[in-house]
Amino acid sequence: MNIPKKIVILGGGTAGWMAANLMAKKWQSQGFEIALVESPAIGIIGVGEGSTPQLKTFFDIIGVQESEWMPKCNATYKNGILFKDWSTRPGFESYFHPFASHIDAHSAPAFIYNSVFRRQGIAVDCHPDRFFLSALLAKQQKTPIPDYNFPFPISYGYHFDSALLGKFLVEKAVARKVKHIEATVEDVALHENGDINFLHLDNGQKLRADIFVDCSGFRAQLIQKTLKVPFVSFKDNLFNDSAVTMPTNDMATAEDKKDQKLNSQTISTAMKYGWAWDIPLTNRTGNGYVYSSNYCNADQAETELRAKLGLLESDVEVRHLKMNVGRVEKHWARNCVAIGLSQGFIEPLEATALHLVQETIEGFIDAYSAGNYTHSHQDSFNQKINNRFEGVRDYIVGHYRFNSREDTSYWRDNAQNNHISPQLKTIVQAWLKGEDLNKTLANSNNVNYYPPVSWHCLLAGYGIFPPQLKTMPSHEHAHKYDLNYIDEFIKRCATNFKDHRNFLIS
Ligand SMILES: Cc1cc2nc3c(=O)[nH]c(=O)nc-3n(C[C@H](O)[C@H](O)[C@H](O)COP(=O)(O)OP(=O)(O)OC[C@H]3O[C@@H](n4cnc5c(N)ncnc54)[C@H](O)[C@@H]3O)c2cc1C
Repeated sequence: MNIPKKIVILGGGTAGWMAANLMAKKWQSQGFEIALVESPAIGIIGVGEGSTPQLKTFFDIIGVQESEWMPKCNATYKNGILFKDWSTRPGFESYFHPFASHIDAHSAPAFIYNSVFRRQGIAVDCHPDRFFLSALLAKQQKTPIPDYNFPFPISYGYHFDSALLGKFLVEKAVARKVKHIEATVEDVALHENGDINFLHLDNGQKLRADIFVDCSGFRAQLIQKTLKVPFVSFKDNLFNDSAVTMPTNDMATAEDKKDQKLNSQTISTAMKYGWAWDIPLTNRTGNGYVYSSNYCNADQAETELRAKLGLLESDVEVRHLKMNVGRVEKHWARNCVAIGLSQGFIEPLEATALHLVQETIEGFIDAYSAGNYTHSHQDSFNQKINNRFEGVRDYIVGHYRFNSREDTSYWRDNAQNNHISPQLKTIVQAWLKGEDLNKTLANSNNVNYYPPVSWHCLLAGYGIFPPQLKTMPSHEHAHKYDLNYIDEFIKRCATNFKDHRNFLIS
């Protein structure tokens, strides 16, 4: 059989270079030819500085050690995300969302167990922060990498400079014989059957391929503009469509850095019309405000972020961005697969975009290979990726739907938004009725992406509980777990982890 082995990737943002690296790693030995074309004139979006633990598996697959890539990208470790001011319920003004780790098996069951009783009005503690080692590591500004004597790995993500990560990935891909072309695609020619035939570059070259990978960012040059695959907007579910970014704390010298503590978590703070991120890199802090342009304009958003950062008069570098929130109907259509912002985007609250990028690339490699390089697995691939998008969307929507802020119509409208999926409704009803959420999630046919512990953290972290009963029924079962023991267990575990800044410098 003549295997179609020519692949052209359009776009050199993080998505394009991740695709180039993974495809080269998988297919290079089988004689695939991979070329990537990117336009220096158009450039990349250049934001996206937080990841999930999935990014570690990406580097593991392409055989790159942290000691090699992290210093080059000013990268730091991420234990999870601290959500501040999303809930106004006393005692629940902030909570930490950890990445699930094996060590949590010693403490998370108590959290889940207590939440069942707390939902019946019984006074037991189930604020998530008390039950997760990662929450304490983040609070103590420690790295998630344990000392040698503590043999329990912790899940973690990263923070990084996305422009530097892009440059790093170019080198790696080119070393694997990916052909790098700098030019702008001016036109796209189709075969008679509607497949893509070639890309016409502004240097006169025609780029032919068997498979075209659309990594052209929000432009979606191939999947949407050329192949006219419809876009399914999530704007009724998720209101935010804009962002303003403003880096701070530039540290010029190693001496500057040495004396400063370094966060090992992303901080997401609710603002008047959205939320602001605080992402620590080794040399600076990334800040941005994601908001809805239906509720405030770009100047207002910039002023609010400046005020938060104490930069009202500063000439700090500011960028304003628009976001297209939703997904394409099909990620693989004809001989084109879309990866990255071209396939869709869910706002960056849980920093899931690169996770979805990686899943799409790996899913495509598997589906194309399993189908013997035909399109036979196209439908199941598209269904799987769509499910992923919907699953992430529902979890993000939950953050807005359950907020209890009343300060602006933005938050009030979000709390009353009825554009939520049947799956999300089922989860909420189970929680409010005091049912076992683990069972609900396991039994439903829904497209869950987040594990039950994440849903518990969100709902318990917001303090969504009935009022505590005035007269306490004697409920011996409610106090099955000794929380002092859990406090001590987590505290002692945390002594096996080093200060984040010192760990990165050493
Ligand atoms: C405000 C914001 C915050 C974000 N935060 C996060 C986060 O914390 N974590 C996370 O995982 N993700 C985040 N993301 C998403 C993340 O930025 C993207 O998923 C990631 O950068 C990949 O982008 P991309 O490669 O798809 O597109 P881009 O970076 O836009 O790259 C597009 C490429 O296509 C090329 N191109 C386009 N048209 C042509 C043409 N005609 N000819 C030649 N070349 C062309 C461009 O030159 C460029 O190289 C965020 C996004 C936004 C908007």
